[in-house]
Amino acid sequence: MAVDDEAVVGDGREAQIRLAGVGKTYRSESGPVRAVSDVSFDAARGEFVSVVGPSGCGKSTVFRIIAGLETATEGTVEVDGEPVTGPGPDRGMVFQDDALFPWRTVAGNVRYGLEEVGAPEGFSVSERVDYCLDLVGLSEAAQQYPRELSGGMRQRVGIARALAVDPPILLMDEPFASVDARTKSTLHRELLDIWAETGKTVLFVTHDIDEAVYLSDRVVVFSEGPGTVLDAISPPVDRPRDRTSEAFTEAKAEVLSYFDH
Ligand code: ADP
Ligand code: MG
Repeated sequence: MAVDDEAVVGDGREAQIRLAGVGKTYRSESGPVRAVSDVSFDAARGEFVSVVGPSGCGKSTVFRIIAGLETATEGTVEVDGEPVTGPGPDRGMVFQDDALFPWRTVAGNVRYGLEEVGAPEGFSVSERVDYCLDLVGLSEAAQQYPRELSGGMRQRVGIARALAVDPPILLMDEPFASVDARTKSTLHRELLDIWAETGKTVLFVTHDIDEAVYLSDRVVVFSEGPGTVLDAISPPVDRPRDRTSEAFTEAKAEVLSYFDH
């Protein structure tokens, strides 16, 4: 299937994240593993972009390369026009498994990132923690420990922690994959509210097509591994989106058409 260049490069807004020809081969003991090939797409400032594709197609690899946790074998990744050389406070990360510190309270986990770089201008550290907990609806749980929380609450803490240093970019790797369906749809609405309120650029990785179509301005469709970009689809613009609408179902079907064989 031909790649639609127009759709892949976005709508002409300033690109904040730009991948060009990114490839990755892991060197493992059993030999080289080709994870992704020639991945090119971008995300404009303030855009919500999802990457969808089947398990093993290299989504997390691309996520880690953008995060600066892994280096690409080929190609370039730029954030605000600068090549990515490692993790930085401009990119907040949220993972599938919340990776919270069990010995820290909810507030202590959110405070963690601030201890190194300090609170954003205009906030004290404790004000910033309070603000972020309020943003994710966890003010009441500030003094609880991760083990006392539901999976959905733990993911909210992960989001608050990522937002604490006020990064312009939020990178999320299947953040809601292990929460139940009902909690997931609540988290979807909350994430969109946070996105609207904060104006972050969000790059959201998922294998869940419904989730990608519900959340995103653009859905970048990856092939099976080694992943490459097959297409970029723009779901209906209205928000909140009606999952039962014809336009929504059509957008989902369009993504699915790449895997239905
Ligand atoms: P996804 O997130 O889409 O499920 P991944 O990026 O995790 O895909 O993995 C893509 C491919 O790269 C898979 O074949 C996986 O086994 C392989 N892979 C991922 N990480 C490593 C690694 N550290 N060493 C070797 N192979 C890896
Ligand atoms: Mg993954």
